[in-house]
Amino acid sequence: MAKDDQVIELQPNIFLLRGEGTASHSYLIKGDYKNVLIDSGLDKNFPKLQKSLLIAGFKVRDIDIVINTHEHFDHIGANRYFQDYALIAAHRFAAIKITCDDRYVTMYKSGDINNPSLKIHLWLEHRSCFDLGNYTLEVVHTPGHTSGSICIYELTRKTLFTGDTLFAGGTLSYISESGSLGDYINSISHLATMKISEIYPGHGAISKTSEGDMQKAILNARAFLKDEDGVEITHFQELS
Ligand SMILES: [Zn+2]
Repeated sequence: MAKDDQVIELQPNIFLLRGEGTASHSYLIKGDYKNVLIDSGLDKNFPKLQKSLLIAGFKVRDIDIVINTHEHFDHIGANRYFQDYALIAAHRFAAIKITCDDRYVTMYKSGDINNPSLKIHLWLEHRSCFDLGNYTLEVVHTPGHTSGSICIYELTRKTLFTGDTLFAGGTLSYISESGSLGDYINSISHLATMKISEIYPGHGAISKTSEGDMQKAILNARAFLKDEDGVEITHFQELS
């Protein structure tokens, strides 16, 4: 059910809150016990995020947990508006970079403003779970784009929130300072063993063809390792 082209209910009580420009998308999961926001997007995108939350029927204080898919500024930038009310969660490799204010890795040098120190209350590990009652979210550590990249697997619907790890069409994301193409290929190969109905990426379109997307992503990564021409690397540009 579409509530607005910027707010789409993808599954019952799972909403896409579209990011503007280079901001990542956010995903809202209304749980029986707790409400989760996956990625907060750019700091400067917050007014739009707040509006999208209201369209979905939520205030900022209704969010109980914010999960960051990785440590980049375009995914964590609006954490500061939530961190006094909600628990902020990230993989421990991302958490250390965020809480140490490692601007080289988080890429704040690229432009966004974020003055207060960001907090991470929950340092996640591979296979950590969030039991929301109606939905269960499992953390899958997928280093590659960054060392602290995770995907979030929803066990009931078999949907995968992929951050910048996997995009529709297998477009290869920028391999960041803390990332590795070898790790990336290994992570995607692991995801390829899972049953996934749809992928919900941090930028661009959602996809129902995860198998093909993963094959393409691995081919792109291998080609890039061999320095072949024609491999497109995408990060901040908005994916269509
Ligand atoms: Zn990123």
